[in-house]
Amino acid sequence: MSESTDRPRHFIQQIIDADNASGKWGRWSASDAGDTAAPGPVGDAARARLGKPRVHTRFPPEPNGYLHIGHAKAICLNFGLAREFNGKFNLRFDDTNPAKEEQEFVDAIIRDVKWLGADFDPATGPHGGGLFYASNYFDRMYAWAIELIRKGKAYVCELSADEVSKRRGTPTTPGTSPFRDRPASESERLIAEMKEGRHKDGAMSVRARIDMGSPNFNLRDPVLYRIVHEEHHNTGSAWCIYPMYDWAHGFEDSLEEITHSICTLEFENHRPLYDWFINSVNEGRTDDGSGPWGKKIHHPQQIEFAKLLFTYTVLSKRNLRRMVEDRIVQSWDDPRMPTLSGYRRRGYTRESIWALTEDVGVTKFDSVIDILRMENACRDHLNKVAPRRMAVLDPVKVVITNWADAGDPARVEWMDAVNNPEDESKGTRKVPFTRELYIEREDFMEEPPRKFFRLAPGAEVRLRYGYWVRCTGFKKDPSGRIEEIHCTYDPQTRGGDNPPPGPDGVVRKVKGTIHWVSADPRHALRAEVRLYDRLFAAEEPGKRTGNFVDDLNPRSLSIAHAVLEPALASVGPDEPAWEDGIRRFQFERHGYFCIDKDSKESAMVFNRTIGLKDSWGKESKG
Ligand code: ATP
Ligand code: MG
Repeated sequence: MSESTDRPRHFIQQIIDADNASGKWGRWSASDAGDTAAPGPVGDAARARLGKPRVHTRFPPEPNGYLHIGHAKAICLNFGLAREFNGKFNLRFDDTNPAKEEQEFVDAIIRDVKWLGADFDPATGPHGGGLFYASNYFDRMYAWAIELIRKGKAYVCELSADEVSKRRGTPTTPGTSPFRDRPASESERLIAEMKEGRHKDGAMSVRARIDMGSPNFNLRDPVLYRIVHEEHHNTGSAWCIYPMYDWAHGFEDSLEEITHSICTLEFENHRPLYDWFINSVNEGRTDDGSGPWGKKIHHPQQIEFAKLLFTYTVLSKRNLRRMVEDRIVQSWDDPRMPTLSGYRRRGYTRESIWALTEDVGVTKFDSVIDILRMENACRDHLNKVAPRRMAVLDPVKVVITNWADAGDPARVEWMDAVNNPEDESKGTRKVPFTRELYIEREDFMEEPPRKFFRLAPGAEVRLRYGYWVRCTGFKKDPSGRIEEIHCTYDPQTRGGDNPPPGPDGVVRKVKGTIHWVSADPRHALRAEVRLYDRLFAAEEPGKRTGNFVDDLNPRSLSIAHAVLEPALASVGPDEPAWEDGIRRFQFERHGYFCIDKDSKESAMVFNRTIGLKDSWGKESKG
């Protein structure tokens, strides 16, 4: 979560630098700098903020689905700017459309934003500006609509939504509405009737009176309010008219005194509207509030940046909702989903998401980022911090036939295993080595091809941190499947070390090192391991057929019944204090794994976060 200092400042940072230099947004005052008496970082930030140039950003999701990885870009950008300029950051629900919004989504969004570390709560976050709901501003928005009607800048139109769009005109002919010149008093009466619920859905709408001939169609008398007789998750049945996005959004920013209203590029040609609405309210208003319309309202600046999109990934809540509803995935937080809750459950760390969004940068040009970059960001972080453990995902038994030669055949030898070769301070742990072990089925071949350096009849291999073992035979079950592999071990290779030179002075060598776990029932920990892969097999899902479902990867989930080393049963002293409580590991030679929320002490469940190296498209790993 560090700010990169070695890269050029992006265009939004440059805008803010210039605004701060010119004093465009004024300075934080005692009334809005925050709680300067608060203990800790909250008070420190507030005191440092006092008298400095204002920077106030927000993240304004509509609660109509779970957040996806694209939203993370907007969160990190907005929160990152608030932090960089010691400003404030709001989380605001743009909940103006009752039909698609639900409390479940509100709760999930709050969870995800907090998980990313974008603390919007002024009590706990040094940059917390607060949690807001656009629906709490409905009264004020309604009052401004009446003001616009009185100013001759809005009217009630009785065309249906269909007719409104049919009569929008063409680039060369203006749009029309027979209601555009109706007297303000009539519109005022009708908007009141609309609000009182005296008209059916779609019977009429409130429209701004802007420019029916504008080359920017957004300015051809856009709709401010439509009638929707539906319960709202926050306002219940108080309203049956709901504001449109363009009408509402600028006022939400204005009321919260946002300075830089950052949105994605598709809103660039809505910016004239954003400005027109606020300017129209401000027309006739003054700085000191004298005059008939009162005091000017705050006018934030809308700034657009390019969306974050990925290969092999479908974003947009509409499509994600479809995947959940059509049971293509199990839930919004299915670990294959590109939602933040999916990524979290899959084992991705917030640090890796921050690293990626900072690495991608901020631009004005839409581009599609290779999903490998996201995966690599995760690998890079987990490689540094994830404790190493041994897990055998597809076990086959190995019996050490000469184990009794050196003592009690039931004895356990506790071997030292390095917890994290990237971090010496994490030390070692003890792993039990016993007469019967498990290794990966694919680490043994009855008839190995050349250059197969793992176990095979007559071959010798190093069991990591264990001993060198040589295969002396094997047993098959009636179906011909290998059931048991017989080996002898070399007591002089304890810890996996090289043996001393032989009588001829030559040191024996092995080429292969494999992992293993004890099969002794006192140690062998059985668990379900969910092996996730990319949800889509095509770089651009849906490109071929127009339907992304056609590009689903049939192998996006497989289940392994694994045996793990016993250390995984309880939290080890080498495990980081994960802030989100999710325990993450590297399973040696396999990749990164975390404990799933379905996991129970008696029935553990792990998710594969990501493989060790990119194996996408390769048949097998070496
Ligand atoms: P979607 O269409 O994917 O559901 P949205 O833009 O409709 O996204 P909102 O809830 O309106 O979703 O988005 C909240 C904020 O997140 C907006 O400011 C929006 O611009 C930003 N955002 C959405 N998708 C992306 C993306 N892919 N990259 C960066 N920012 C995004
Ligand atoms: Mg949307």
